Amino acid sequence: MNNVLQHDLEAQYEALTASLRHEIVTHSLMSNVTTMKQLELNELIKMAKSSYIPDLLELATKVEKVDAAVCTLTLGMYGLCADCEEEIETEDLIKDPAQARCRSCRAHSRYHHDE
Ligand SMILES: [Zn+2]
Repeated sequence: MNNVLQHDLEAQYEALTASLRHEIVTHSLMSNVTTMKQLELNELIKMAKSSYIPDLLELATKVEKVDAAVCTLTLGMYGLCADCEEEIETEDLIKDPAQARCRSCRAHSRYHHDE
């Protein structure tokens, strides 16, 4: 797989998790920074989502998506569609390295779930 994309994705992951932690502190969802640093990312995501603060919710959703893409890297499944396992169009991955679905599955899910 393309190393540039992988690098982009990892950079996004670092930046997004850092801002998620930062936002959680800013919104005082957690006052103890030391405790927060020991929390797993998925717990931070859960916390951010249950806060009902729109900015945090949006950030948590992005982190979740990028985290899922990083997982596929680890599994050696990066760049494959989460639904049909076909290769995702390279152009689309360049635009959004965390893209999880190919064009046809995305068109399909937009139609069904109004995403
Ligand atoms: Zn697909």
